[in-house]
Amino acid sequence: MKLDEIKTIAVIGAGTMGHGIAELAALAGYKVKLRDINEEIAKKGYDQIKWSLNKLAEKGNFGLTPAKAEEVAQRITPLVDIKEAVKDADVVIEAAPEIMKLKLELYQELDKSAPKHTVLASNTSSLSITDLGKITKRAGQVVGMHFFNPPVKMALVEVIKGEKTSEETMNLIVELSKKLTRTPIRVEKDVRGFIVNRVLVGPFMFESAWIASRGDATIDQIDSRMKFYESFPMGPFELQDLTGIDIGYHLMKEAGVVIPPVIENTVKAGNLGRKTGKGFYTYKDGAGANYTREAGEKFDPIAIYALMVNEAAWLIEHKVSTADQIDLACQLGAGFPEGLLRRADRIGVDKILKSLDEHYAKYKEERYKATPLLRQMVEQGKTGEKAGAGFYGYEKTGKEYKALKVEIDKNSKIAWVILNRPARLNAINSDMRAELPRVFEELRFNDDVRVIVIRGEGGRAFSAGADITEFVGGKPHQFVELGEFFRAPELCTKPVIAAIDGFALGGGLELALACDFRVASKRSEVGQPEIFLGLIPGGGGTQRLTRLVGLSRAKELVMIGERVSAEKAYQYGLIDHMYENEKFEQEVKLFAEKLAAGPPIAIRLAKQIMNAGAESPLEAALLMEREAFGILFATEDMMEGVNSFLMKKKPEFKGR
Ligand code: NAD
Repeated sequence: MKLDEIKTIAVIGAGTMGHGIAELAALAGYKVKLRDINEEIAKKGYDQIKWSLNKLAEKGNFGLTPAKAEEVAQRITPLVDIKEAVKDADVVIEAAPEIMKLKLELYQELDKSAPKHTVLASNTSSLSITDLGKITKRAGQVVGMHFFNPPVKMALVEVIKGEKTSEETMNLIVELSKKLTRTPIRVEKDVRGFIVNRVLVGPFMFESAWIASRGDATIDQIDSRMKFYESFPMGPFELQDLTGIDIGYHLMKEAGVVIPPVIENTVKAGNLGRKTGKGFYTYKDGAGANYTREAGEKFDPIAIYALMVNEAAWLIEHKVSTADQIDLACQLGAGFPEGLLRRADRIGVDKILKSLDEHYAKYKEERYKATPLLRQMVEQGKTGEKAGAGFYGYEKTGKEYKALKVEIDKNSKIAWVILNRPARLNAINSDMRAELPRVFEELRFNDDVRVIVIRGEGGRAFSAGADITEFVGGKPHQFVELGEFFRAPELCTKPVIAAIDGFALGGGLELALACDFRVASKRSEVGQPEIFLGLIPGGGGTQRLTRLVGLSRAKELVMIGERVSAEKAYQYGLIDHMYENEKFEQEVKLFAEKLAAGPPIAIRLAKQIMNAGAESPLEAALLMEREAFGILFATEDMMEGVNSFLMKKKPEFKGR
């Protein structure tokens, strides 16, 4: 089955996850059947979807208006009859309770009632996709499709291959996840907990609990360290209070893991977190997890990192996933501040290994046994950033970045500068501001690069703008220095394309405005919302935007601050090309390749003269043009161009 053959999706279970998944499917234009065990529950799920759609429409998210929200809701039918639910479904997404016996019965039923071509995708967090497949006669079409809570907000979907799942099914569900505007990560083997939960529940939550249980640190010392110093969205205990301490407890108990006493005691006392008003913290009268910054100052979190990295290394070793996919998954699925393995490279793989070995020698617990990959990396000197190699290679540019990724394709001569803070919709923070001008400086002198494309990581945003958390306590001079960041693409002598897929807002849009070209996927939205903060754009928005779309239209965007769809931005002339969502990557590459095939010196001069000329009197600008025209006559590229034209062959420009 091909993606565009999918017309109807059945979602089984209208609970926490099911109704969110159904909402995403309807937003993407599918007809949706939402099935639960009785009418009341199915209707409740449907009402929650309507409520959520209205909220989205209020904020203008997903390009929704109240009328469109109503249309989306009408695509969904809540029902109880399972045969009716699946009879014309092309894909079934199952989000029934996490009980194997229940799911096995359900899959037998689904297998009987659904058409032969239908794919059965499970949202299970921990159960075996292989076993679900085995109970059916279509194991090749049974696959994991693990959304995160809440599906409408969390970008990640882990797509899990069971032993028999076909490559065709994997590809289809990867494409479907993209169509649902989520970011899919392939999980090549059906391992318990897949990627994010393996790293998060055992190492992050449980190891922290062992440290507290042994009395090596207190709960608030650990939470404070991980949040305030290591930049995780919250500490491991606060996180367990939020998700429900019993969830991880049961998951680990079922996996035969010994439960750390602080968790065992809290669960036994019936304190399961926020939902019971008490967990590791007490939630009463607005009070909650209120640990201080000072508490974490002296706590060394290496043991927590060591277990997380050991787990991730195991996943790589067993070919479940790769370093950059694991990093992306942890950022999108758990809000990690940067890739876990990038951080490991920064900490030093040797230090991670040492911590594991010391703990193993002391406690003789299996979980401290370092996976062979880590030992091998240390033996080979691949200890991380300082050594020039670790989980990532650091040879390419000589250095690695915290807020960016740089990928150079020597064949096509395209450099991809990737805004790499997916958990924060690639918001521009101080690291990004410091790194981007440096990257452009390096790329300028790199002969392997003729065109630069800036894009965002994570599939949801180019960049949602400045990281507002840094506004508090910022000094005026820091904001004045912003200019260098926003001028980098403009001053670069090579053509720069802003590839917008998702949001380009505030500073994100200003960065795109400083590029030579802006291309966008249809689903993108752009805007200058600074006015809502009592501000105006500070990175060229009031000026570059005016030059591009005209004074009054720019004023409307700046003074009212509303986002506009890619379509509207295209009509305004703000976006140069608009592409279908599914073809976006391919089209961007084609566009960049056209530029990369051109004569580099002529393109450089064209960029400089056209930029400078637009701000100069016509006489001076024409003079610049004539001078440059003359200079180009002395280039080998010009000879190549003219000869190729005469000989009717494709020119090969060398930049000489
Ligand atoms: P939930 O209990 O909120 O919802 C499950 C729904 O399924 C309930 O409404 C229940 O009435 C219904 N149900 C029971 N038997 C059914 C059947 N035979 N047919 C149709 N519906 C049936 O559970 P949830 O949190 O939405 O979890 C659903 C699945 O998603 C589980 O496999 C879980 O592991 C997974 N998951 C949950 C989360 C999360 O944070 N809650 C995150 C990711 C994945």
